[in-house]
Amino acid sequence: MVKRFTFLLVLISVLVACATSPTGRHQLMLVSEQQAISASKTAYAQTLKPLQEAGKVDNDPAVKRRIVGITERLVAQAVKMRPETANWDWSVKVIDEPDVVNAWAMAGGKMAIYTGLIRKLNASDDEIAQVIGHEIAHALANHQAEQMSLALATTVGVAAAGAVSDRPGLAMTGASAAAALAIKLPNSRTAESEADRIGIELAAKAGYDPRAAISLWQKMAKAGGPQPPVFLSTHPPPENRLEALRALVPQMLPYYQSKQARPVFKL
Ligand SMILES: [Zn+2]
Repeated sequence: MVKRFTFLLVLISVLVACATSPTGRHQLMLVSEQQAISASKTAYAQTLKPLQEAGKVDNDPAVKRRIVGITERLVAQAVKMRPETANWDWSVKVIDEPDVVNAWAMAGGKMAIYTGLIRKLNASDDEIAQVIGHEIAHALANHQAEQMSLALATTVGVAAAGAVSDRPGLAMTGASAAAALAIKLPNSRTAESEADRIGIELAAKAGYDPRAAISLWQKMAKAGGPQPPVFLSTHPPPENRLEALRALVPQMLPYYQSKQARPVFKL
């Protein structure tokens, strides 16, 4: 036990690094972005497997084409913002859950959007672009590694340290478990503001109306009822979300209204 505890301390002191997000905020990390990306690969496959077996993934070719088309324009802008992400294995899956208003991204651009978000919000392309842009922004700003750091600091971390110290080959189990857990943890409100700001910019540069960010979050709040959207539990609204987005719209409109071509990054 003492040995494991010591190991954990060594692990943490080796891995802790102070990173800086694209908006200049300092992030305290237990997990590097590369570790988060590699763990997310496994976590993505594991998370999708039961959904695939239940026949809930990418069922409607028209919906899939629509989502991929929007995502490809957004990813092209993401790659302009962070060129090294051209090497990421970007992916988006449509999960056929008509009652679930949700979307998420894992590190390295592994995403999913639920049919409930599209249908229940009756979301336009501009609004869907805001959701996916927001998710891409979380990945660009390395928020998943922050979430994983949080997950690893809890019970999963203890299990992971145990696996690492006894059988090095099992270390991935703990890390991918943390990556899978990360998409279920609420982002910090700071991370949310950051993702809103980067997301609306990606969407505007990809040719999507920044005013849709306002209507999207208004629809999301109204979709509440007795059961609030899952999306809001993992993406808690910062206090001044609408005001902050409204203030960004005039800066973003020129990108949206520009006549320049909107490149795509083929998924
Ligand atoms: Zn978010």
